[in-house]
Amino acid sequence: MGRSSKDKRDVYYRRAKEEGWRARSAYKLLQINDDFNIFEGVKKAVDLCAAPGSWSQVLAKKLRGDAGSESDVKIVAVDLQAMAPIPGIIQIQGDITKKSTAQAIIGHFDGEEADLVVCDGAPDVTGLHDIDEYIQAQLLLAALNITTHVLKKGGTFVAKIFRGKDVTLLYSQLKIFFPFVTVFKPRSSRNSSIEAFVVCQKYSPPDGYVPNMSNPLLDCQYEMDYNHLEGPNRVIIPFLACGDLSGFDSDMTYPLELEPGETYTYREPTQSPINPPYKDACELRRTDRLSKPLLDFPIPNSADVDSAR
Ligand code: SAM
Repeated sequence: MGRSSKDKRDVYYRRAKEEGWRARSAYKLLQINDDFNIFEGVKKAVDLCAAPGSWSQVLAKKLRGDAGSESDVKIVAVDLQAMAPIPGIIQIQGDITKKSTAQAIIGHFDGEEADLVVCDGAPDVTGLHDIDEYIQAQLLLAALNITTHVLKKGGTFVAKIFRGKDVTLLYSQLKIFFPFVTVFKPRSSRNSSIEAFVVCQKYSPPDGYVPNMSNPLLDCQYEMDYNHLEGPNRVIIPFLACGDLSGFDSDMTYPLELEPGETYTYREPTQSPINPPYKDACELRRTDRLSKPLLDFPIPNSADVDSAR
């Protein structure tokens, strides 16, 4: 049996099958709610990156009740992939990095805003941890960006996060918009997984903040979307070039500055490289094996070739 199929059959996987959840991740949202009570008073909710739909099932059950009767409840689910219908869930097949998706969500709320946005988004994992963490962080920022368009002040945002080495940068970005940010690892999330969830409460964007899609990774046109932003919407980091024009230019190659009659003296590097990527190449060159094909048969010399003709 393959490792992945064995791993999937943990207690939450089996319970999800028995209890009718489309994925074991349903328990993650339920456990987040057990500790943070995120569904209290929520009528309008958005489920970003929703397929196959277990979080949407949880939202439908918690907000509409078992009878599914709450008429003023609206839940919009978004995913790149198509999802089988769930009663009481409005589905949008779309990309959360697109402004058009934010507009489509708002359209379903008749111009009103959501009380709760959840996002369980994950990119296709490559296995290269740095790249996976980076892409996940970009997806989280896209989710945050779209959330600023659809979440009402005081609302809650819950999102999957990878706790990689640069995660504190994400925390600071979230803290710009939410005074309360907590990282939560549900018991149903495997310990071996880098994933956790940020629970961001009491949405309060900076004064004068106007939601925009100005993240250059998203679908903005720099001139139209970004360059005209003012006040807290525009962040300008000062750029300062140090040193004056009489200093050395690091892109130039200068001749050695030797006094007349002085000879060049080689000095050892202050700290030698510990394990440089070119070490193998240096070793190959030292032993005269660099760029030489390793053939297991002798190359005929020209005399052999001539005599064979
Ligand atoms: N919460 C879901 C559930 O309980 O069934 C599981 C979500 S699954 C872990 C991650 C989802 O993120 C995938 O379905 C994927 O299509 C979606 N996704 C990834 N990037 C996306 C994007 N840019 N826009 C919309 N959905 C995206």
